[in-house]
Amino acid sequence: MHHDYDVLIIGAGSAGLTAALTLGRCLRRVLVADGGPPRNECSPGVHGFLTRDGIRPAELLRLGREQLRPYDTVEVAGLRIDSLIRQGRGFCATGSSTADDASRTVTARRVLLATGVSDVLPPLPGFRELWGRGVLHCPYCHGWEVRGQPLAVYGRGRTVTGLALLVSRWSRDIVVVTDGAGHLTPNARRRLRREKISVEEQPVTRLIGSASRDLRCVVFADGSQLERAALFLHAPQHQRSPLAAGLGARLTSKGAVWVSSGLQTSVPGLYAAGDTTPGTQQALLAAAGGNKAAILINESLTREECPR
Ligand SMILES: Cc1cc2nc3c(=O)[nH]c(=O)nc-3n(C[C@H](O)[C@H](O)[C@H](O)COP(=O)(O)OP(=O)(O)OC[C@H]3O[C@@H](n4cnc5c(N)ncnc54)[C@H](O)[C@@H]3O)c2cc1C
Repeated sequence: MHHDYDVLIIGAGSAGLTAALTLGRCLRRVLVADGGPPRNECSPGVHGFLTRDGIRPAELLRLGREQLRPYDTVEVAGLRIDSLIRQGRGFCATGSSTADDASRTVTARRVLLATGVSDVLPPLPGFRELWGRGVLHCPYCHGWEVRGQPLAVYGRGRTVTGLALLVSRWSRDIVVVTDGAGHLTPNARRRLRREKISVEEQPVTRLIGSASRDLRCVVFADGSQLERAALFLHAPQHQRSPLAAGLGARLTSKGAVWVSSGLQTSVPGLYAAGDTTPGTQQALLAAAGGNKAAILINESLTREECPR
C-alpha cells in the first residue's frame, strides 16, 4: 500500500525536530506537523542544553528547523493534527493548516507523537502572567538564575516538602506557601524546620510581579505581602494532544503515554518521545528521545523492507 510519507512526526519541539533530523539523514520521507509553540515558550531561556545554554526557546527551534533544510526528504508544515486513525499497517492523519485553517489529510507508515504536555497553573492572578520567569517549575532549569535569593515554594503535602528541600540547595531563604491547610505531616514539618524553611498556610490571593515578569511578592488573604524573587511549584500537567488516547494507546497512571523500551506505544507503529512520555522532562532529554525513536523507527521500516 502506498503511503505519502514513511514517518509523520506530530510536534516540532526538541523531540520532533531531532527525530526529523535523524530520519532525514536516513533518507526517509518525513512530514513534521508543527502545530504551534512549545511548552516553554514563556521562558526567557533554555538552560542546561549542551552548547545552547540560555538560548531563547524560539531560537533553539528556529535553528533546529534551519538545520533540516539540507535534508530534502523532510517537510515541515504548519499543521495541527486533529485526527489520527490506523489505516492498514500505517496511519491516516487529518489536520488543519496553522496559516489558513485549510484541511489536509496524509498517510504514513509510522507515526511519532512528540506533542508534549501542558501545565495547569493555580487559577490565581499572577501565576499565568509570571509563568516561566517569576513562577518556575524546575530548579534544574532555573535554580541557578535565582540562586541565593529569597524564594517561595508553592503547594501542599509531600509534593511541596520534596520540592522545597530540593530548592533549598539553591537558596537558604525559602518559605513554603501552602495556600490553605498544608497537609504536612509532623515529620515533613520537622524536615523543613531543620533546613530553616518556614511555612505560611494562609490562603494566597495573587502574585505581584514587575514589568519584566519577575516576582515581587506573594499577597495573602489578610492583605499581607511576602517579598520573594521567584516562586517554584510542581504544576499538574496533561497531554497537549488527545491523539494517543483517541487511538486507544495505553496511558500511565500519571497520564503520560506509555512506551516500551523501544519507544513504541501500545499501538503498533505508533511511537512517542519527549515530555509526552514518562520520565524526567528536559529539552535535551526530549531531543535524545526523538533521536532514539527515529533510529528505532528506521530500523523497524528497514526490517519491513528487507524481510528474512
Ligand atoms: C516554563 C518552562 C521552562 C522550561 N525551561 C527549561 C530549561 O531551561 N531547560 C530544559 O531543559 N527544559 C526546560 N523546560 C522543559 C522543556 O520545555 C521540555 O522538556 C521540552 O519542551 C520538551 O520537548 P517536547 O518536544 O517533548 O515538547 P514541546 O517542546 O512542548 O513540543 C511539543 C510540540 O507539539 C506541538 N503539538 C501538540 N499537539 C499537536 C498536534 N495535535 N499537532 C501538531 N503539533 C502539536 C506543540 O505545539 C509543540 O510545539 C521548561 C518547561 C517550562 C514549562
